[in-house]
Amino acid sequence: MSHERREERDGLARALRQTLESLRRSGLDRVPSARTVVSVVPVVSATPPRLEEPGKTPAKPLQEVERQPPPRPVRPAALPVKPLFKDVASANPAVPVEERAERLADLAREVASCIQCPLLASTRTQTVFGAGSPTARLMFIGEAPGADEDRTGAPFVGRAGQLLTDMITKGMGLTRDEVYIANVLKSRPPENRAPLPDEIAHCLPFLERQIDIIRPDFLCLLGKTAAGALLETALSIGRLRGRWHRCRGVPTIVTYHPSYLLRTPSGKKEAWEDLQILMKAMGITPPARKKI
Ligand code: URA
Repeated sequence: MSHERREERDGLARALRQTLESLRRSGLDRVPSARTVVSVVPVVSATPPRLEEPGKTPAKPLQEVERQPPPRPVRPAALPVKPLFKDVASANPAVPVEERAERLADLAREVASCIQCPLLASTRTQTVFGAGSPTARLMFIGEAPGADEDRTGAPFVGRAGQLLTDMITKGMGLTRDEVYIANVLKSRPPENRAPLPDEIAHCLPFLERQIDIIRPDFLCLLGKTAAGALLETALSIGRLRGRWHRCRGVPTIVTYHPSYLLRTPSGKKEAWEDLQILMKAMGITPPARKKI
């Protein structure tokens, strides 16, 4: 094959990979039928994406827009479409409810003995694994423990934690014990600096196992570190919030990190909208006082 032909082929392959990646980032999780689909539009909806069960005919993607013309007089039944991305959670058997607490405790012990990041392991007081119900319907995921969390061993107990608690209790009418709260990193980065890519790469598998054990109905990713790590995206929170994503098979909402909201109170309005999307999907009626 000539050099030009090889370059042309590589360029096409690269373009195809980029197109698939951007489709995935816009929320599409399967290859649509070429006969009916011409474009994909982002969906802003309070309804979480319907998840298919293995063996069932997959539902038609919501984002399909039909090409005009040439319409067929009688449209054939929706063609089965091939899943584009593996639904990791549904590929693993769910952990029985009565075993979840023990499985989490085992994982927490593993995390506590982790020294993959020698600096974090030598500067932390203790690891901060997570807290809440092992059978929570909703799991919040933040960035990393700060000084208060490092001292107490519990996630989100400082100023940002107080705001998150208000969002959960005053905003949603839930208690912290009813949800589960965790972070991407389980150790405090020195001086509260942002987690490094290597540190995220080391800790992420623990978080993924945590999510798979709890298997919540919904995830709420707080801020750029959580969204970037779990959705593998560099998009800003402004671009990611207000719509559904899917992470490890779980319908997922992204919103601003409480620390950001403390610095930028004007973002609370949008954070409240994000919580409302979650509440609607969860069938929760917010308490009378709605402001966070
Ligand atoms: N910020 C986080 O992301 N997590 C915590 O636990 C506390 C502050």
